Amino acid sequence: MKRFALAGNPNCGKTTLFNALTGSTAHVGNWPGVTVDKKTGQYKKLDETVEIVDLPGIYSLSPYTPEEIVSRNYILDEAPDCVINIVDATNLERNLYLTTQILEIDVPVVIALNMTDIVSKNGDKLNKDELSKKLGVPVVEISALKDYNIDALMKVADEASKAPRKGNLILNSEDPLYHLVNDCRIAIEYRGIKNPLFHAVKLVELDEIEAKDHEDLIPMVEEFKKTFSNDTFGTDFEAYIADARYQYISKNFANVYEKAQTGEKEEKTKSDKIDRVMTHRIWGLPLFIVIMFFIFHFTFAEDLFYLNAWFGVEIHNEGFINFLTGMGYEGEPLAGIPSLGVFLQNWMGWFSGHFIAGFQWICSGFQEYGDVAAEAASATWYGSLICDGILNGLDAVCSFIPQIMLLFLFIAILEDTGYMARIAFILDRAFRKFGLSGKAFIPMLTGFGCSVPAIMATRTLENEVEKNRTIRLMTCFSCGAKAPIWGLLAAVATYAGFGYGDVFVFTIYLGGIVLAIILAIFMRVFTKDTYVSPFIMELPQYHLPQPRNVGAHLWEKLKHYVIKAATIIAASLVVIWFLQTFGIENGGWAMVENMDNSFIAYIGKALQYIFYPCGWAIGADGWKHTVSSITGLVAKENVVGTMALFFNNGVEEGMEETIQFTSYGLYSFAIFNLLTFPCFAAIATAKAEQTKKEFLKTLGFWFGISYGLSALVYWLGALWAVAWWAGMIVTLALVAFLVFAAYFVVKRNKKASSIVALEA
Ligand code: GDP
Ligand code: MG
Repeated sequence: MKRFALAGNPNCGKTTLFNALTGSTAHVGNWPGVTVDKKTGQYKKLDETVEIVDLPGIYSLSPYTPEEIVSRNYILDEAPDCVINIVDATNLERNLYLTTQILEIDVPVVIALNMTDIVSKNGDKLNKDELSKKLGVPVVEISALKDYNIDALMKVADEASKAPRKGNLILNSEDPLYHLVNDCRIAIEYRGIKNPLFHAVKLVELDEIEAKDHEDLIPMVEEFKKTFSNDTFGTDFEAYIADARYQYISKNFANVYEKAQTGEKEEKTKSDKIDRVMTHRIWGLPLFIVIMFFIFHFTFAEDLFYLNAWFGVEIHNEGFINFLTGMGYEGEPLAGIPSLGVFLQNWMGWFSGHFIAGFQWICSGFQEYGDVAAEAASATWYGSLICDGILNGLDAVCSFIPQIMLLFLFIAILEDTGYMARIAFILDRAFRKFGLSGKAFIPMLTGFGCSVPAIMATRTLENEVEKNRTIRLMTCFSCGAKAPIWGLLAAVATYAGFGYGDVFVFTIYLGGIVLAIILAIFMRVFTKDTYVSPFIMELPQYHLPQPRNVGAHLWEKLKHYVIKAATIIAASLVVIWFLQTFGIENGGWAMVENMDNSFIAYIGKALQYIFYPCGWAIGADGWKHTVSSITGLVAKENVVGTMALFFNNGVEEGMEETIQFTSYGLYSFAIFNLLTFPCFAAIATAKAEQTKKEFLKTLGFWFGISYGLSALVYWLGALWAVAWWAGMIVTLALVAFLVFAAYFVVKRNKKASSIVALEA
């Protein structure tokens, strides 16, 4: 099968093109670093099926970052039949820098000039024939986003792949380095090594890999250096060649792109204007916090805009209104208006309630629909397994689907419009002095979706210490699978009357970010490391969220969630149901009347002691909380599924009414579940990414930090409740300690490199 590789700068639209070509729904991120590994798919519209490889985004082929190494090795070693170099037409000159390097390789190349929709919208003009003539390779104008001309691109690539191509050099024969490069090329070619020109140029640049591979040729370069000196670059050949590339580009291609009088400028100023507010030096960070708050408010608030709490608004819950709000509590006045998330969840509850009741009715042998059928169904083992075990647990897990989808919708919109990229930038600006790079924030923010790809994305960090640290901090960023836990606890808090559900969930997410920052500061205190990755980030222009990108993202999430529920979670529920339904009662094995005699109660009660210091494990229900937390190891959704088996079983009220927590017990439980070991899949990913020693440290960190902080929160909360002044003293002491640690780190990091931001 023929193979075409997609190569280009970060954010030039590679993944968008890849998805359009292969019909895949790979993650399109509006920030660099999302595609670390190469992805493959198939394009079927040519005579012969072609394999498409999406390479990570790069600015050059020097081996400085993991992305560059992956892309470089692929093109050199795997020799694809054609390299499709995607060039962002609105950033032509910068993108062509990479192009000049790709063209040095002996491989067929086609330039896909992307984002031409923006070019024509701005009224700009692009001379594609001129570009093609000067580069010596075919150029095709496309728009990956609008699906424009991509089949034509593939035809051209197919044509190009039929003939071999020799690499060409941008240095002309008058250039002082021309002959040196040529001599190296001949020497390398003589050894039968492929792509001699590319290797020769990199050797003259004295790039790490080439210098190692052709050690014996280095004297040739060094010898030449003695006779050479450039006014600007001295004998730094790498800088000299980089400059030569840019000069070549501006000399040849400055006139290829003709800007309309106002067009592009207007678009730019629009983005700039938005950025003046969104990334404001002082207001940028508070604005992000406000935006986050509204997201959680619209998803989890029972009382939208606090109309009830602040203005005493009550709504008569009858007829059509009752229908709208999910047909619960007819006649009882509604305390304010529920948010969209809660509203959707009520509907889902109504639907799944009847779904389960239907099964109970069948399992009971068609007795009276409702409570009678429910009781009769639970009495048989199969009715209990199907209705109380599997369906009840799955219902608890799936009832949060609407809220989770809404949450992901908001996150996908933030990402697609380009705002998420700004958040990494804002965080970098705010926390660089504490030793935190925006480069590490990108995988962390990805962790809000799922820790598995987020841990993989830490490969972009060039420093091992920083990478290991980022992996450890990943659990602070609540992944999608943990959202049902927060949904359930939010309902418990609201029902118990000590908090607003939306505020609770908001504090978990925001608190996670704050905690990650605090922990990172402490990690700096205890290691000598002061390195902070430089953060080069392109801020893409803002654009309206594209329904296709956002939709694809949500669809992926939903599919993943449903498949997981139907397989791993359902299987876990069966096991837990068995352990909870059978046990030793009245001196023999049986289906137990009292859950406290079940197998799982014995297990839970033994383990309960371990978690006593965390508070939530104390008391009659302590073992249930313990078991629920442990089942979360398999998949985080299991926490809620297991709680449904314990607290929802044959009881009239909803779970929020039977789960008993104090306010600080609730937080302590939440913090443990947030920070402890993630699910098995994420643990396995961390194992693959780290050395054995570092991985064991990571496991220790996850357990220690979740256990320790959960206990701290519990005891501090209890102290506040008993004697607020004592709680205050301890809290102040902790804050003082933290401030001191931060001060220490800032002072030591004074000399850390400062931020470089390339504005697109
Ligand atoms: P990658 O980093 O090269 O994989 O780039 P992505 O495919 O993730 O795209 C980066 C951003 O550019 C996304 O927000 C895309 O929606 C947007 N984008 C990609 N192709 C086009 C295009 O042809 N036109 C426009 N207007 N936007 C595009
Ligand atoms: Mg990508």
